[in-house]
Amino acid sequence: MIPPVNAIVSSTTPNVNNAGTSPAIEVVGRPVEAADVNDTDIYERRESAVRSYCRSFPVVFTTAEGSHLVDGHDNRYLDFFAGAGALNYGHSNRRMKQALLDYIESDGLVHGLDLHTAAKSAFLQTFEELVLIPRGLDYRVQFTGPTGANAVEAALKVARNVTGRRTVFSFMGGYHGHSLGGLAATANREHRAAAGVSLQDVVFLPFPYGQMAQIDTIAYLRALLTDTHSGAEVPAAIILETIQAEGGICIAPDETLRDLRAVCDEFGIVLIVDDIQTGCGRTGTFFSFERAGIVPDIVTLSKSLSGYGLPMSAVLLRPELDIWKPAEHTGTFRGNQLAFVTAAEAIRLFHEEGFEARTAALAEQAERTMLEMLCSLDERIKIRGVGLMWGIDLAEIDSTGAFAKAVSQQCFADKLIIERVGRNDTVLKMLPPLTISTEDLDDGIMRIAGALKRCLDALES
Ligand code: PMP
Repeated sequence: MIPPVNAIVSSTTPNVNNAGTSPAIEVVGRPVEAADVNDTDIYERRESAVRSYCRSFPVVFTTAEGSHLVDGHDNRYLDFFAGAGALNYGHSNRRMKQALLDYIESDGLVHGLDLHTAAKSAFLQTFEELVLIPRGLDYRVQFTGPTGANAVEAALKVARNVTGRRTVFSFMGGYHGHSLGGLAATANREHRAAAGVSLQDVVFLPFPYGQMAQIDTIAYLRALLTDTHSGAEVPAAIILETIQAEGGICIAPDETLRDLRAVCDEFGIVLIVDDIQTGCGRTGTFFSFERAGIVPDIVTLSKSLSGYGLPMSAVLLRPELDIWKPAEHTGTFRGNQLAFVTAAEAIRLFHEEGFEARTAALAEQAERTMLEMLCSLDERIKIRGVGLMWGIDLAEIDSTGAFAKAVSQQCFADKLIIERVGRNDTVLKMLPPLTISTEDLDDGIMRIAGALKRCLDALES
């Protein structure tokens, strides 16, 4: 039985009806005012050409609550995107919103550098008590700059400093952010090309997926490390996502994760799990690596760590790796107090409301419904996923990505927001908030089915 989402979202706010019956969003405060809220010319005129998501979803959003967003024309969209994974607890989560309002009302510090603050104390204590101790984990927490990329930079830097080695092994299809260190470990050629400098000291290993699945990754890795003629040096670290998200929802088998752990132990290599997108409950368990029973040396977290969509990133380090000297990886915004407040609340929510079991049940529902409604449309449609992170792979229908683009555009026309990932963006990435109701989950999959059917018919004719 999947507990109703009300139990999660509105246990303290009985006025919220989020049970999938499309309630109107109740806006209590004063919405932001613009001269013309729907004027998108201002973006053409003034915002840099680097903008990207708004090109796929070209409307002006005004409010959002739970699994829905509303645009300036009062259109209501179902969210299968969740802020690229930053909104695991949905938009404007009532419990976090209240904690935030109380904190602001009480004149709690908003900016605090890395000073000791009440908000930070509460976060660290909650994280220790509800995340680390129950899982038998002993990590120091390093708060980095607010982006995931900055957490990755810190993780790579400390691994290199600890081992005194330069090289890092990453994986084909891997994504670790757009600052230079993270970009060097990111495989996508288009992203790498924008760096403008050489991206060095990273060797890419085959990820067990697609045409590389036939390669025994671990045997290849062992050969690299032991063959004196391999051309590779023992690296400082191996960095990976347990499920490659931007790479196309490619899942590392549990056995591979355990073997990687063993190889890292044998050769004194720092194992870094980039849990920026897969962490914070996205795959069911709080950390994605829990499913394989491994403990990484370093973990990067961001996206849904604050729970409310506020910028916050952290690196978890085994205590003996925490060799930083004070201010060696510093920055002005390493301590978003508002994010600490919502992050502590998010962890309490995750713990108290049984998210793990609920996500597992929703995952089963999602798989069942997708097999029934999507895969039955065409045998070339493939699905894969864990928890509430699923890929709908359309590459066999069209490897150029044009078909997947048409489907996602049709979804948007049908008021469903869903992103594309993978090689040539051929995979629809289904990433609803973990708080989604069973009805909305089914409704979203039905909208994808409708869009797929329409695009398949168009393809045939
Ligand atoms: N690592 C992973 C696995 C990610 O998914 C992302 C963001 N998509 C990043 C790192 C970089 O995070 P940010 O965009 O916040 O810099």
